Amino acid sequence: MNRITMLGTGYVGLVTGACFAELGNSVTCTDIDSHKIRRLQSGELPFYEPGLAALVERNRARGRLAFEPEPGPAVAEAQVVFIAVGTPPGADGSADLSAVFAACHLVVENSRNRYRLLVQKSTAPMGTARQLRQEIARRNGHGAHVDVAVNPEFLREGSAIETFLHPDRVVIGSETARAERLLRKIYLPLALQGTPVLATNLESAEMIKYASNCFLATKISYINEIADLCETVGADVRVVARGMGLDRRIGSKFLHAGPGFGGSCFPKDAQALVHFAAEKGERLRIAEAALDVNRAQRERMVRKSDLALGGLRGRRIALLGLAFKPNTDDIRDSPALDLAERYLEHGATVVTHDPEAMPNTRATLLGQRLSYATGPYEAAEDADALVVVTDWESYRRLDLRRVASLLRRPVLLDLRGIYDSQHAVEAGLDYHCVGGPARRGANHHVEPLTKGRATIVRAKEPANARNGSA
Ligand code: NAD
Repeated sequence: MNRITMLGTGYVGLVTGACFAELGNSVTCTDIDSHKIRRLQSGELPFYEPGLAALVERNRARGRLAFEPEPGPAVAEAQVVFIAVGTPPGADGSADLSAVFAACHLVVENSRNRYRLLVQKSTAPMGTARQLRQEIARRNGHGAHVDVAVNPEFLREGSAIETFLHPDRVVIGSETARAERLLRKIYLPLALQGTPVLATNLESAEMIKYASNCFLATKISYINEIADLCETVGADVRVVARGMGLDRRIGSKFLHAGPGFGGSCFPKDAQALVHFAAEKGERLRIAEAALDVNRAQRERMVRKSDLALGGLRGRRIALLGLAFKPNTDDIRDSPALDLAERYLEHGATVVTHDPEAMPNTRATLLGQRLSYATGPYEAAEDADALVVVTDWESYRRLDLRRVASLLRRPVLLDLRGIYDSQHAVEAGLDYHCVGGPARRGANHHVEPLTKGRATIVRAKEPANARNGSA
């Protein structure tokens, strides 16, 4: 049984810690935020992740998972310490590494004479682990023997446990055989189930994480650009993406057109990589373009809404989904919040719903300017449009006839492409999506939408709109 301490008990630290416990290790999770640790001690999770509550509870009951507000002793007792603190973007887009170095200092201060492995799990630029080694050597007042390794994390929020316990690969970056051996031992259960374990040097391990995230972000921006062209030529990006994705060299994942990528990783990591390259005198033009296209895509969603509604001022917009993706309450850099903010700027009012992310949203400045509905149908009531930004499973199953009957103007903006356009039109909705033709429902009589030019869309106010027969 390996004794592991997690420094940082956020999304990655908590999921990783609980999964390491599940794999048979003895894990202590600690965090600079002692309030968070106390909540965990009393059985409360700080965020929503499917299956996590049961995993935490099970491993606490087995005595393999503990939460400790005081990090010093937890570090002193551990053989392996994982740094899973945040590496948020600084004002210039670079990764802010202050928490990583603070965690490193804590490890040095609490490591006397015994071998200890410090593992950088946080996403940090190439050369960070080497700097940690130098920092440890410089501060080695207690004669601590602290080795450093890199073990980037690839879990995906919303399916974090599954993606941690069944990853596509485990990457280990190290400079000593002992560090590699220890990490291989921790990941042995995954290796035995056939997970490839790739051992390399520190910089390559750090680079694999950035290059992977940046590639996935690029794939999303690529299909979003193709989606725009699809609208111009009358193609349907969903079919195009499917046709592309069936080519195994391309693959179907991350090929869904939508409002642009968000979340705590893709925008931050792509920016950090671009910034890092610039510092080294290089330009990463593809990564820069992926970020540019993403910014433009968010703007395009505002224009699309404006066109669909014939102007945003005075409109009441029902926005479904606040989290940056389904099955999480994470709203960091969520396209939905960006869109809500832009709607408000344009003089619209916004009523929102999200199955999990409303408390986090309410706690923000923007969130105080939004209204919250108890469910998707309640949000739709008397709204001028329903805009679906996050593809929660429950939204996929909406009764579109009921939606049409509740809306003041039956306008549906399906920004994730989760509805069948024919079905939506038959339900009486004007259907707008990303990368496909807009289609008019039975309640409208206006000329077709023209891309790039604000066509005045006048709705026939259906007399029976509220009685369910639209
Ligand atoms: P998070 O903000 O959810 O959690 C970070 C935690 O670290 C917070 O609880 C914070 O209080 C704590 N912390 C900050 N400074 C500390 C210190 N000095 N000592 C102890 N704790 C400290 O962030 P996250 O989403 O878990 O991300 C952590 C790292 O993992 C980042 O580098 C991120 O890029 C990377 N990552 C995230 C994901 C993801 O899906 N969230 C996936 C892969 C990698």
